[in-house]
Amino acid sequence: MKLTVLTLFPEILKGFFESSIMKRAVERGLVTYDLVNIRDYATDKHHKCDDEVYGGGAGMLMLPGPLGRALDAAGSPGVRTVFVTPGGRLFNQAYARDLAREPKLVILCGRYEGVDQRIVDKYVSDEISIGDYVLSSGEVAALAVVDAVYRLIDGVITGESLAEESFEGGLLEYPQYTRPALYDSIPVPDVLVSGHHANITRWRLKKRLEKTLAYRPELLSDAMLSDDLRGLIERIAAEGGIDEPD
Ligand code: SAM
Repeated sequence: MKLTVLTLFPEILKGFFESSIMKRAVERGLVTYDLVNIRDYATDKHHKCDDEVYGGGAGMLMLPGPLGRALDAAGSPGVRTVFVTPGGRLFNQAYARDLAREPKLVILCGRYEGVDQRIVDKYVSDEISIGDYVLSSGEVAALAVVDAVYRLIDGVITGESLAEESFEGGLLEYPQYTRPALYDSIPVPDVLVSGHHANITRWRLKKRLEKTLAYRPELLSDAMLSDDLRGLIERIAAEGGIDEPD
């Protein structure tokens, strides 16, 4: 996948692309990227990229001129183009999966009060919000979208790690433990060291259900549960739960 991020502050994003899993994905040719400084597309001697809002109001808006030239150079329109904005559609795992199928993505980071609407109308295919709060700039939101998307590209992370993560099958993830088996007098749940794989599977599913019910009950709508999962839930109920105590 080719990721092109348009920003006034490429240095905020640079470290992410040069570190850890993303670095390896780039080295293995699974991801290519371009961090475009929108200011490079300003034509006046001060490289101005913002101005006052027509009709009045607080704050400044990103100018359409530099943005349009930067987007044209990035191949948009013609490439799925995301503008991260609190006024967009709420981002989630399904949305990330959808974007991960694209061969190319252009992501536009806003600043100030945002961007001139004509840029959105002409170039943007997806207005995405990462949550119901307002950040001071789009770079953190763009990184959230990039991170959620690129890790779903085949080969970046093993399929096994992804299969039981939160939101897969409409459930949050179960609690996990590592060594030591006794930490600060708190033991790892017995079932996890029992070696009884069927019980471990049932314990994990029960925990996924409990956590989802506690924090995100709306995820448990029928539409989001696979037939397999519903069958498993019914079997657990019929068997009266798991053998091991919680
Ligand atoms: N005036 C805008 C509004 O009320 O919708 C908020 C602008 S915000 C201060 C500046 C930039 O941060 C936005 O253009 C956007 O790129 C980014 N941003 C802020 N909150 C965001 C969110 N929840 N999701 C995605 N991007 C966000």
